[in-house]
Amino acid sequence: MSARILVVDDILPNVKLLEAKLLGEYYDVVTASSGAEALEKVKETRPDIILLDVMMPEMDGFEVCRRLKADSDTAHIPVVMVTALTESADRVSGLEAGADDFLTKPVNDTALMARVRSLIRLKMTVDEWRARESTATSLGVVAEKEEADASIPARILLIEDQEFESTKFVETIESMGHQAVLVTTGAEALAKINQEDFDVVMVSLELEEDGLRFISHLRSNDKTRSIPILMIAQNDIQKIARGLEIGAHDYAVRPVDRNELKARLKSQIKRKRFQDKLKSNYEMSLSMALTDTLTGLFNRRYLNVHLEKLLKEKSEQKKPVAILMLDIDHFKSVNDTHGHQVGDEVLQIFSQRLKERVRDFDIIARTGGEEFVAILVDVTMDRACHIAERLRRGIAKQPFQVSSEAGSLSVTTSIGGIFIQEEDITVEDTLARADKFLYKAKETGRNRVIFEGKGTLNPEDYEEKGRPAIDD
Ligand code: GH3
Ligand code: MG
Ligand code: MG
Repeated sequence: MSARILVVDDILPNVKLLEAKLLGEYYDVVTASSGAEALEKVKETRPDIILLDVMMPEMDGFEVCRRLKADSDTAHIPVVMVTALTESADRVSGLEAGADDFLTKPVNDTALMARVRSLIRLKMTVDEWRARESTATSLGVVAEKEEADASIPARILLIEDQEFESTKFVETIESMGHQAVLVTTGAEALAKINQEDFDVVMVSLELEEDGLRFISHLRSNDKTRSIPILMIAQNDIQKIARGLEIGAHDYAVRPVDRNELKARLKSQIKRKRFQDKLKSNYEMSLSMALTDTLTGLFNRRYLNVHLEKLLKEKSEQKKPVAILMLDIDHFKSVNDTHGHQVGDEVLQIFSQRLKERVRDFDIIARTGGEEFVAILVDVTMDRACHIAERLRRGIAKQPFQVSSEAGSLSVTTSIGGIFIQEEDITVEDTLARADKFLYKAKETGRNRVIFEGKGTLNPEDYEEKGRPAIDD
C-alpha cells in the first residue's frame, strides 16, 4: 500500500501542481481547499502526512495544525506547512503550532520528495509502536504510563567542530533548561552514545569528516536507531535531502536562528518522549500480561497459550510432555497465623525453589493463589517422576526463612502429575486430568506426588544421590 498524502490549499492551481508531483511518485493523494474541509478529510481518510497551506481564509494553516496536534487521534500525523512566508518568525509560529517542517513556495521537487519520504518513514515507525501498544493493552492489562514530564531536562548530544557555532548552540540548549554534551568528532560521539542515553542528536553536516556518514552509522545501530537527529547545515538542498533520505529527522539552516532552533529541538524532544512512552507502555503491558508480579513466574494466560501450542503440534513432531500441578499444603494457616505479608514471602520462596529445580526451558506458571503448574518438555515418564519428587523434596526438606518472629516455617506441597505422549487433548482437559491427581494427593495425606499410571510415588525410589546440593 502506498502512503496517503493530504494536500490542503485554497488556491486550486496550487493543489493541482502538488497533486501532480506526488501522483508522479505513486503516492495516493487526497485534497482539501479549506481548513474546515482539511479537518474533515483527515478524519475520513487517515492520511500518513499532510501538506498544509498557511494562508487560507477563515481558518489558516496554523489553526488547522494546532487543532490536529491537540487531538490525540491525529496528533501523530506529520504536518508540513507550505508557505510563501520566509520570515523565521513565521516558521517559529508554525513549529509552535506543532508543524513538523516547512516548504517554501514555489516548492522545490528535491526538497519536497526528501521531506515526504522521511516523514512517511517516521510515521510508519510510530504507527508500528502504536499498533503494538494497543495490542498489548488490549491483552487486558491497562498499563498506561504517565505522560513524560516535559519539565525534565532532555539530554542533547551536539557534534560540531566550529567553535563559534557550538558555543551558540550550547547556550541555546541550556537556555531551554536542557543539557548539552558537546563533542567535535563522530568517533567521540559514538563513544558517548554507547555510555549514555540521549534524547536528541544534533549534528553538523560541515564536519571535517563526513556528517552524512555519521548519520547513516547512527541509523544502522540498534541502540541509536530511534534517537531523533537534527542536522545543522549550509543551505545546500541536495545535501540536506540526502541527510533526510538516510534517516535524519529535521534540519536547521545556517545562520541558525535561535528561536527556530528552540522550536525544532522542542518538537524533536516531544517526539522522542512520545515514542519512548509508547515503547515502554508496550513492554510493560507485555510483561504484565504474561507474568505474575509477586513471583515473576509466568501467569495462567501465558500457560494456556504455551500449552495449547505444545499440544497442537503435528503428531510426528510432538514431543512428550509432563504436566505437574502443585498446590501448597495448608497455606491458609500460614496467612492466618503469620499474616498475609508472610504468606506472600512463602509464595516467593516457593516459586524460587521450583525455578531452581527445573531446566531453563521448562515452564513454571503460577495459575492461582497457591497453585502452580510445571510443564516439562521432552522427558520420559521416569524422568518426570524424578523431577516431581525433586520439587516436592526441595520444598519440604528445608524450612522457609521468613521475616516474622517465627523466623522459619515448614512448608510442604502436594503434586499431581500426568504424562502426555501422542493423544489429542485440549488444554482444559489436560489441566483437569492433572488436577484429579493433585486432589488425590491432598485427600490421601498431602506432601506427596501422585502420578497418573504410577500412583503415589515412593520418595525412596527417587532419591538423587548424585546431586544432593540442589535439595539443600
Ligand atoms: P490445602 O492444603 O487443602 O491446599 O489447604 P490450603 O489452606 O492451602 O488451601 P485453601 O484453598 O483453603 O487456601 C488457599 C489460601 O491462599 C486462601 C487465600 O487467602 C490464600 N492466598 C491466595 N492468594 C494469595 C496471595 O497472593 N498471597 C497470600 N498471602 N495468600 C494468598
Ligand atoms: Mg493449598
Ligand atoms: Mg488451593
